[in-house]
Amino acid sequence: MSWAEVYGHDTQRQRLENAATRGRLAHAYLFVGPAGIGKHRFALELAKLLLCERRGSAWEACDRCAACVQVQANTHPDFLTACKTEDKLEFTIDVVRGMTAQLALRPIRGGRKVAIIEDADDFNEEAANCFLKTLEEPPDGAMLILLATSIERQLPTILSRCQVLRFQRLDDVAMENLLARTDAVAAELIPQLIRLSQGSVGRAVALADETVRECRTRTIQQLGAARPNAVELARNWIECLEEAGKESASQRERATRLMALVGSILGDALRIQQGLPATEPSENDRIQLIADRCTEDHLLQHLEATVEAERLIDRRVPLPLIMEQLAQKLCTA
Ligand SMILES: [Zn+2]
Repeated sequence: MSWAEVYGHDTQRQRLENAATRGRLAHAYLFVGPAGIGKHRFALELAKLLLCERRGSAWEACDRCAACVQVQANTHPDFLTACKTEDKLEFTIDVVRGMTAQLALRPIRGGRKVAIIEDADDFNEEAANCFLKTLEEPPDGAMLILLATSIERQLPTILSRCQVLRFQRLDDVAMENLLARTDAVAAELIPQLIRLSQGSVGRAVALADETVRECRTRTIQQLGAARPNAVELARNWIECLEEAGKESASQRERATRLMALVGSILGDALRIQQGLPATEPSENDRIQLIADRCTEDHLLQHLEATVEAERLIDRRVPLPLIMEQLAQKLCTA
């Protein structure tokens, strides 16, 4: 039953199952794919399956035994998760040391240890080196699952010691099934969210929030104005981020989603310039105004600026500053 919670990614599951059947599962996997498509969910199911104590003949966790319940609640003594700490830009050596020390201990409940390592994009050299020995020779039966968004960001030392499994954006059917089961999403919104979120559930869920949708609509209007106003544009974005709560982590998460949405508006303007329809046909006319105002070169520069803004968000630059600078760039041409 348990894979029912994982949407899409059937090929990846099949590949792992085939490897398992032949007794050829690797001890370290690097899952690579865009954010928000369910890599973590997939890794969690895999961990559950590996630790399940009442597994039948099918390649899936029972979802009911004590071990399954503990993995799900993140209380299983042999199931570890590691990520960079909130105040750090990189995955630090302290986190790696803690994890390798725990991995070295004998399994307590199950016959093996399983670790999910988030933020593998952000290993610093020192932390990676500290991790190499464990990656190369993990304790008996241990499985390490590293999650990353891009191959280019991986250090060669890590890359060469992991089996890479690439994950793609979700297709429309998987998106629809998943969104239909998400409480936060109203049914009538689903078709539009699927079109606008480009296979990222995270983006779809962000867009399901009315504040974010309104902010996006205002962004289209503001960018399409004859003389766009950078101050108003920045205010629109900052207010939307503040709505996400006081915590900087939740504001940053929303900021990242917002940048992706701004990027998709600019991408739509480029499509229109090339004679193609906007992703959301009902927005064609309003995005046409942006396509008319900007040259192709400007749109490409704007797109680059939003990608740069995402990078700055990641590097913990204060959000108001990022928003103001980006608004300035997008409004100057
Ligand atoms: Zn189980």
